[in-house]
Amino acid sequence: MQVSIDRIRKDIETICSFNATPGKGYTRFSYSAEDLKAREYLLSQFRDLGMECRTDPAGNLRARLEGSSPHAPAVMSGSHIDTVLHGGMFDGLVGTVGALEVARVLREEGIRPVHPYEVVVFAEEEGSNFGTTTAGSKAMVGRYGVEDLKKLKNPEGTSMYEAAKSIGLDPDKLPESILKPGDLKAMVELHIEQSVVLDTEELQIGIVEAIAGIRAYSLSLEGVPNHAGATPMTLRQDPLAGAAEIILEAERAARECATGSAVGTIGRIFCEPNVSNVIPGKVRFTLDARDVKTQGMDEVVEKVRSRMEEVAAKRKLSAEMKLVGESRAIEIGREMTELIESAAMKLGARYRRMNSGAVHDACLIADVAPIGMIFVPSINGRSHVPEENTRWSDIEMGANVLLEALLKLLF
Ligand SMILES: [Zn+2]
Repeated sequence: MQVSIDRIRKDIETICSFNATPGKGYTRFSYSAEDLKAREYLLSQFRDLGMECRTDPAGNLRARLEGSSPHAPAVMSGSHIDTVLHGGMFDGLVGTVGALEVARVLREEGIRPVHPYEVVVFAEEEGSNFGTTTAGSKAMVGRYGVEDLKKLKNPEGTSMYEAAKSIGLDPDKLPESILKPGDLKAMVELHIEQSVVLDTEELQIGIVEAIAGIRAYSLSLEGVPNHAGATPMTLRQDPLAGAAEIILEAERAARECATGSAVGTIGRIFCEPNVSNVIPGKVRFTLDARDVKTQGMDEVVEKVRSRMEEVAAKRKLSAEMKLVGESRAIEIGREMTELIESAAMKLGARYRRMNSGAVHDACLIADVAPIGMIFVPSINGRSHVPEENTRWSDIEMGANVLLEALLKLLF
């Protein structure tokens, strides 16, 4: 029993033809005309297989194949179909179409699983409209409620609530469709790696063991702006020199962190007045700390905080550090990684276990059910760009590993 790469390729190429920026990569934002065409295409495929389809109030599409035990918890698989601006062909689509192809194989082979099988097409994963990633899956597990959807706005001022209404959904009904623990037996997402590990090591499959969490902070330091020539070094309250000490601390803390997997980045900095002959008065910068272990993120953040307090006292600065975003680190259970590993072994795939630096929809589903993630290589690690590419043979292997893993979960 095998997936058909010809059908998968046709699905991906068809959906990619719904593109708002032809010739400049692939652009398909959630709730746009291109998104609606992609949904229409997927709906026709699901319906041809006799799957029952519904779109939840946030725009997540769910197609269900009944099992022989209809009250048993469903096994879910899928991903997203939205893109970044000028994105690539494979991010999200590989997992969406892979899950659809599994449903086709089940039908073709006349297999009636015990557990119901659900293909999910998540809305608004990239945050291209409303600036917040995985908004569809957050709504699906109840992390975002109706009020949150009203607050999330695109640059034109349209809220996610209004966008959902504009395509005929009823976002007020969101509370009725939330996934609860017990609704799903498991969820498996197939996705491109979006980094260089698999491609560099010439492997076909990555089995994700852990997904890094993120802590994002905004820091500000305030001192006294003054004349760069007339102010003696002993009398300065320079927030930019103070920021330099804190930035180096972030780098050191992540590098020396006991978990061995923490990363810390200061990627953005504003200096006022930003004039060459004036001692700065105010500096604002960001801290992005990530690790697959919560303890690693805690350690980096605490070291940065204590260095900031020390620097502020020493240099007579006022200092503030504010949490602006976070997602939790997820360790995938051994049962799921072993299940996927045995599928990869059975198919003779060249594989490895690995961590994911990026967050995916499955991370949210982890709130309510065990999850698994299968990666296929991104050529040269490129993603979110028109050059994003994955070999069709690797996609075929990924979808076959997905099929094999799901078959075990469905019975
Ligand atoms: Zn993605």
